[in-house]
Amino acid sequence: EFVEFNKFFTQIIDRFEMSKSQNVEFIRLLPEKSYFVDIDTDKLTQVIDNIISNALKYSPDGGNIRFGFTVHDNMIRVMISDDGMGIPKENVTRIFDRFYRVDRARARSMGGTGLGLAIAREMIEAHGGKIWAESEEGQGTTIFFTLPYELDEAGDWE
Ligand code: ATP
Ligand code: MG
Repeated sequence: EFVEFNKFFTQIIDRFEMSKSQNVEFIRLLPEKSYFVDIDTDKLTQVIDNIISNALKYSPDGGNIRFGFTVHDNMIRVMISDDGMGIPKENVTRIFDRFYRVDRARARSMGGTGLGLAIAREMIEAHGGKIWAESEEGQGTTIFFTLPYELDEAGDWE
């Protein structure tokens, strides 16, 4: 299904912003221009839900979560960043492995199975994109993913 990415992303962000119980501010840095992505909307919603849930889980009281995307070549690059506890350098690539969680004590208190980002990687790669993380311990985490885009909806040839 072809959807306009800004609108699709904004609806998900809005849903979290309305239902969140934490004192965390959402900051949006979204371009106005229309970019269309050909995606399985249920699956991409699941991917973004997990990334935002993680960001909320690890955000401190009074923290910010930033949402943005930029365009490079023929891909949009989505960023969701928090200023939570971060992830140690040596573990940053492993968070996309099945059942991997950064430390057991932290994982126990936070719930979850450690599958969210492994599923996200599968789904993003199935859509022709990539997903990765950048993190600084004690500073925060940014999750990036890319998706191919079109400037017109498919079939709009005139
Ligand atoms: P599930 O998503 O299945 O409920 P989960 O959230 O623990 O469980 P993932 O979403 O795959 O699993 O994340 C894997 C691990 O990566 C987490 O357990 C956590 O240790 C770490 N992690 C993910 N996102 C963040 C983040 N924003 N800040 C700090 N650590 C994170
Ligand atoms: Mg998760």
